[in-house]
Amino acid sequence: MKTVEPLVIKLAETRLDKDGVRRLAEHYTALDWMDKARELQPNDSEFLIELAGRACYRSFGVGLNPNVTKIRDNPRDYLTNVLEKGDGSILEHATVTFAFLNVSRVFTHEIVRHRAGTAMSQESLRYVRPREISLWVPPDLESATSRVSETVKEIEKRYHDLEKQFDWDKMTFEQKKRVTSALRRILPDGIATNLIWTANHRTIRWVIEMRTHPSAEVEIRKVFGKVAEICRRDYPLLYGDFTSKKLDDGTTQYIPKFSKV
Ligand SMILES: Cc1cc2nc3c(=O)[nH]c(=O)nc-3n(C[C@H](O)[C@H](O)[C@H](O)COP(=O)(O)OP(=O)(O)OC[C@H]3O[C@@H](n4cnc5c(N)ncnc54)[C@H](O)[C@@H]3O)c2cc1C
Repeated sequence: MKTVEPLVIKLAETRLDKDGVRRLAEHYTALDWMDKARELQPNDSEFLIELAGRACYRSFGVGLNPNVTKIRDNPRDYLTNVLEKGDGSILEHATVTFAFLNVSRVFTHEIVRHRAGTAMSQESLRYVRPREISLWVPPDLESATSRVSETVKEIEKRYHDLEKQFDWDKMTFEQKKRVTSALRRILPDGIATNLIWTANHRTIRWVIEMRTHPSAEVEIRKVFGKVAEICRRDYPLLYGDFTSKKLDDGTTQYIPKFSKV
């Protein structure tokens, strides 16, 4: 058995196509706005969300829509107003992709419940036959780490005993897949696995709120605490309303001023 820690790595994020943005600005006769706005807002994701929102009312400048007599020039004011009003649909235009590594099947069962605005690619334990069981020991079992380790080693041993019943070298890939999937039924839920997760910012805000709440499971709180830190660092205007609160078990709750936009 190998003891591991859940890891969160940011893999990708939305990037603007600069020519496309310029063409859009030309279409709206909003080139002046675009040059000024881009200086104030170099963040592609936040800029795209603002652009999508302004396209709804032609609010790139006063006079483009006769009904608009003033606009919020500052991206912070603009996006804060979007959050305050709950106009969260424009946050769906930009996404972030994360790798969640060394997470348990407990975690993956929970994260797949968030369906709206997400994409997931989970390591297949039909295809991947583990050589050893890696596992994160949650704080509530830390005082019993050696018993946990003994138990997992016993499962590992039994798993390998069963594995030896099959002549893997003579099996087709399809047969290996079937037997690997059959065998995984004796592996623990805590086995460390990996998941690639993409979500839009509306969804990420909601999942951070729900899954860092003290009533959520400790592992998902730990992982989404890391997601919250990355998002607050990289998208300060989209996550600027979140405050943090240290919890007794060392995890952190992130609470938005504007819930479920
Ligand atoms: C502390 C905690 C305990 C939990 N315990 C349990 C449990 O015991 N058993 C269990 O089964 N689950 C449990 N869950 C999971 C929970 O019930 C939700 O399934 C999960 O959190 C996904 O959240 P969501 O429903 O907001 O969906 P998301 O996919 O995150 O969707 C976001 C929002 O979009 C809207 N939406 C999404 N899909 C639809 C739709 N089909 N129709 C209409 N509106 C939609 C809803 O407003 C929804 O809130 C628990 C979650 C937490 C945080």
